[in-house]
Amino acid sequence: MKTPISYGRHFIDEEDIASVVEVMRHGWLTQGPKVPEFEAAVAARVGARHAVAVSNGTAALHIACAAAGVSAGDTVITSPNTFVASANCAAYLGATPALADIDPETLNLDPAELARHCAKNQSVRAIIPVHFAGLPCDMPAIQAIARKHGACVIEDAAHALGATYEDGSTVGNCRYSDMTTFSFHPVKMITTGEGGMITTNNDALYRKLLRLRSHGINKLDDPLQGKDHAFTGPEINAWYYEMQELGFNYRLTDLQAALGTSQLRKLDLFLERRRELANRYNSAWKDHPVVRPAQSDTGSRSALHLYVLRIAFDRIGTTRHAFMKRLREKGIVAQVHYIPVHFHPYYAPNGNRKGEFPHAENYYEEALSLPLYYGLSNDEQNLVIESINDLVK
Ligand SMILES: *Cc1c(COP(=O)(O)O)cnc(C)c1O
Repeated sequence: MKTPISYGRHFIDEEDIASVVEVMRHGWLTQGPKVPEFEAAVAARVGARHAVAVSNGTAALHIACAAAGVSAGDTVITSPNTFVASANCAAYLGATPALADIDPETLNLDPAELARHCAKNQSVRAIIPVHFAGLPCDMPAIQAIARKHGACVIEDAAHALGATYEDGSTVGNCRYSDMTTFSFHPVKMITTGEGGMITTNNDALYRKLLRLRSHGINKLDDPLQGKDHAFTGPEINAWYYEMQELGFNYRLTDLQAALGTSQLRKLDLFLERRRELANRYNSAWKDHPVVRPAQSDTGSRSALHLYVLRIAFDRIGTTRHAFMKRLREKGIVAQVHYIPVHFHPYYAPNGNRKGEFPHAENYYEEALSLPLYYGLSNDEQNLVIESINDLVK
């Protein structure tokens, strides 16, 4: 059977393979010199002072929250239209994840809603805007709200490597935030298998992230605290290290970092092809009566991680489930991004929370992510377009 056309897919070439093989033959297997190389390449690409590579995007969010000092009693606000990891990172630290509704046009956190929630909640320690599908949030507005309430801003840019803010600068430069996190899961913009990164311009946060990534053990020239054990005369003991806070083992391997550096070289190529494909979808459904592109602005600023179509399934007398099954029969695997966070049983322990975030919920009812990835051919895309058009007739 032919491999189905999925909503997302990685692209690996011979150069990627050679870079990993090179590490297997000659390199370190765990974190070695390839990791700082990858970190420097990402920092340079996005325009941040520091980058810290970690084992996945969820780990990046977790230690970013920890570095920001998020703890029990704090509230962390994110978007309901995201993958659960954007909220889980607060829960890991004993804080309370909270949501503010999205803007129905951008599908990103609505600054007005965020301001409303911050005004009635004194314990907001951090805000996690998610650049949904790669379209950057209104960061100047979010930053202003965060400053007013003394909250930290952590951008979840899992979808947005290579995207640009309205001012033309690159997502991840932390001009509007304390930290930005990325994911290198295979469906994301570039991949390391599993992998993640945090960027920051703040030296203190950078040091903290380095420690948190590796068990909380001292890094760089952290002042040593165990004076009784650290020294022989004026010298630091040859074997000595110390754990200064509770950290994790969230390190990336050199095998993955080598793949990441190789993938990053193709990012502009990936972005360009995604843009081309998105434009073809846009023109296919321009002024269509029942189908419309979900984000009004898929223009030149988005990284276009996802292409979401809004379909009023009830108006065409079907269900999304039946629609997706029909697509699957044609070899096309669509997906839904996202089930609103507050619909997950873990976040609805007291039952149904329907109605709390109507824009996210209305969007969810009609959302369908179509295949969009570098390796998608025009012929394959035409099949997707024809199949959708057939089904909505
Ligand atoms: C993928 C994703 C994550 C988590 O990344 P992993 O690398 O899979 O842990 C977090 N937030 C969003 C919005 C994502 O899409």
